[in-house]
Amino acid sequence: MSISIKLALQQAIEQLENSPSTSLDAEVLLCHVLQESRSYLFTWPERLLDHQQYTSYRSLLNRRAAGAPIAYIVGEREFWSLPFKVNQHTLIPRPETELLVESALQLGSYLSSQQAINVIDLGTGSGCIALSVAREKPDWQIQATDCSAEALQVARYNADRLGIGNVEFIQSNWFDALDTATQFDLVLANPPYIAEDAPHLYQGDVRFEPQSALVAGKDGLNAIRILVNESLLRLKKNGWIIFELGYDQADRVIDLVYNAGYNYILFKKDLAGIKRHCIAHRPG
Ligand code: GLN
Repeated sequence: MSISIKLALQQAIEQLENSPSTSLDAEVLLCHVLQESRSYLFTWPERLLDHQQYTSYRSLLNRRAAGAPIAYIVGEREFWSLPFKVNQHTLIPRPETELLVESALQLGSYLSSQQAINVIDLGTGSGCIALSVAREKPDWQIQATDCSAEALQVARYNADRLGIGNVEFIQSNWFDALDTATQFDLVLANPPYIAEDAPHLYQGDVRFEPQSALVAGKDGLNAIRILVNESLLRLKKNGWIIFELGYDQADRVIDLVYNAGYNYILFKKDLAGIKRHCIAHRPG
């Protein structure tokens, strides 16, 4: 049986009725099967899919209809205009996390240039934060940790594919496996910060993402508490930490960060006006 691109898309849209982005999903999956761009679909709507293409398309649609995230189905998500491989062992990079990269780069001008700049990205997942920063700052020495060996495999693959050589990936629970002698100018993290009973965990893509990258205890702050306290011991004097937090956590986080001993503390808002990440300074 042969079916045109146009008809395949129409069928798919009917099948995916539940998805919030139905036609885009149908198009992205078809592009993936055909290995073509979206403009190809609209230029050649009458072109026929061969049997194998149609069968693969059906199977991707079935996965999507069952809720699987598009990023996991196609195995990739763009972040900082770079393609990142992702799978079920890594969080799917979010656009708002690009703001954290932006802040890290801006802070760069405050970091002393006397000696090498040492940066660490804790809980790196696909490596999207560490590798995006590394791409912009090839002379920074960046380490990136994750407790998941499977996630690190993905991150290393991404580093190779992007040709980025200034990130060292280390399997570690926070700072545990790191040489205690290394002090950092900058600590970066997108830690888990969702409360364990949050309804959010039962909706959309999040259901398929690794719990260890999302959930952090009853109030969602377990990981941030560890991160903030341990980082203070690992930062150089006048070093900075930047970490992402949950949409309603800024008030609690400011107390936590202040009590830990940081002095300048600020939050960066995302486009929705939500305090998305915290920036804090270790006193000199
Ligand atoms: N921002 C993500 C979400 O709300 C969670 C990411 C994280 O926990 N670091 O789905």
